[in-house]
Amino acid sequence: MAEQQPWHWDEQTWRGHVARVRAGRSLHPASWPGGARVAVALSFDSDHETIHLRGGETSPGRLAQGEYGSRVGAPRVLRLLDRFGIPASFFMPAVSALLHPGEVRDYVAAGHEVAMHGWIHESNALLDPADERELALRAADTLEKLAGTRPVGIRTPAWDFSDHTLAITRELGLLYDSSLMADDEPYELLADGEPTGVVEIPVEWIRDDVPYLLLEHGGMLRACPPPRDVAGIWRDEFDAALEEGGLFQLTMHPHVIGHRSRMAVLRELLEHIDAQQGVWYATHAQVAQYVLEQAS
Ligand SMILES: [Zn+2]
Repeated sequence: MAEQQPWHWDEQTWRGHVARVRAGRSLHPASWPGGARVAVALSFDSDHETIHLRGGETSPGRLAQGEYGSRVGAPRVLRLLDRFGIPASFFMPAVSALLHPGEVRDYVAAGHEVAMHGWIHESNALLDPADERELALRAADTLEKLAGTRPVGIRTPAWDFSDHTLAITRELGLLYDSSLMADDEPYELLADGEPTGVVEIPVEWIRDDVPYLLLEHGGMLRACPPPRDVAGIWRDEFDAALEEGGLFQLTMHPHVIGHRSRMAVLRELLEHIDAQQGVWYATHAQVAQYVLEQAS
């Protein structure tokens, strides 16, 4: 039978779609550790070559752009984080981790979190449920072997969330997901109306380097805003989080932010944040753990 068009859906059907994965209770805590006024959770999706590989693009020219992320971008990011003494979360497709095991060790040695980001940056919505589950399990095992500890969080590749993703996340016993956008503050995920105990650390394209700073997108070259304008947007996001006693979460990519003119954006932002009093820098796992403890 052909799929029914959305305008023919009955109420139960459209309510069912909306209810499948939903925001539950807010996990915005009354205060942050040590009386901090704001939590800052920086993340880097170390996709590298998998952005091209997952689409079957194998040309050395394309892959070299990803290789830059590992050779140049990631070390540069690590040096800057080290300068400010900031812990961060690195979400890494398993294939990227297998291509760059030394990079995984560098993240761990510097005290950063390594978390899940698919097998080869596959799109979950295109997979059948068995494939999605098998790839997720394999990715968790692979990261555990390379990082020395089992990952506790996931960011789905391209934030692509299928009808089965949350069930797989729960089966893996993960503490948190960081792929959805229903709030600025952490919240608990509901599955068909039921609390899951899984913390959502929400993301947004507004707080992502790709839409602003990636010149080549979908095989096309496009104009980007001057990088330093982006620092202004992110500074406004941080300032409002500070005012609200909330969370400032940011998503970047070593192959995007790691370029010289783009690192200036991150450096400028960190200088602004670091000049404030009462900032708690934490990994996504630390934020998830803390807000869950506070709520229980
Ligand atoms: Zn990614």
